[in-house]
Amino acid sequence: MSLKGKTAIITGSNSGIGLGVARELARAGADVVLNSFTDRDEDHALAAEIGREFGVTGRYIKADMSKGEECRALIEQAGACDILVNNAGIQHVEPIDTFPVDTWNRIIAINLSSAFHTTAAALPLMRKAGWGRIVNIASAHGLTASPFKSAYVAAKHGVVGFTKVTALETAEEPITANAICPGYVLTPLVEAQIPDQMKVHDMDRETVIREVMLTRQPSKQFATVEQLGGTAVFLCSEAAAQITGTTISVDGGWTAL
Ligand code: NAD
Repeated sequence: MSLKGKTAIITGSNSGIGLGVARELARAGADVVLNSFTDRDEDHALAAEIGREFGVTGRYIKADMSKGEECRALIEQAGACDILVNNAGIQHVEPIDTFPVDTWNRIIAINLSSAFHTTAAALPLMRKAGWGRIVNIASAHGLTASPFKSAYVAAKHGVVGFTKVTALETAEEPITANAICPGYVLTPLVEAQIPDQMKVHDMDRETVIREVMLTRQPSKQFATVEQLGGTAVFLCSEAAAQITGTTISVDGGWTAL
């Protein structure tokens, strides 16, 4: 399958899942626009490197997803948006009664409201192009809850709801909107926690992964960023043209429990 000639914008994509999704979309032939809130040489170099590796155009556009006007400017600056992947996200773990108000507002802004702003700016471009795919990276926490993650769980449930509304508003058009709900994914951030957890629990790597990190993931394996990218590519394929307004879990059975 080829996404040649399509432009994909992936928010929060200079690391982790966003970067993995950008790489798989580029591998499938899409021109990619990487994004984060920083504007370092290495951000631009990363995008250019993906472009070279896969023979596509790789660009990096700085935009802070906590600010609505910057979310919209990202899409406008890109000039085209056939594939929109709303991926940027942050987490904070604290009980509701002491959860800082600023942190609540920031999580709702980055994890939920950014998708509203980018989608609003992208839909006219998709309509003009006569084709569009919106892939929102929600979470197993868009379908289930955990204590002390109130803002994150609320935002991710919100993303799932927003995805359904987007799908209904575009149902008769060649545009789809879906949410991917990952369980625990092996990103560099997660990998970096393993040695500390091994020390704290006095366990070997395999036991820490099984007993501590993946307690809720029945497969006892992390999902990978390549698998998330592959799922996004599938949602952009012709086979997925009638898949809209739904969620795909990539969670090793977490939400089956
Ligand atoms: P990560 O920290 O590696 O990546 C987050 C990305 O978002 C980074 O590129 C970061 O620069 C960017 N970002 C943060 N704040 C931003 C802002 N204000 N503006 C623009 N970009 C910003 O994390 P990740 O694990 O790759 O997470 C990516 C998405 O996947 C998030 O939405 C997260 O909730 C979701 N998710 C992750 C997991 C997991 O296990 N890692 C599981 C389920 C869902």
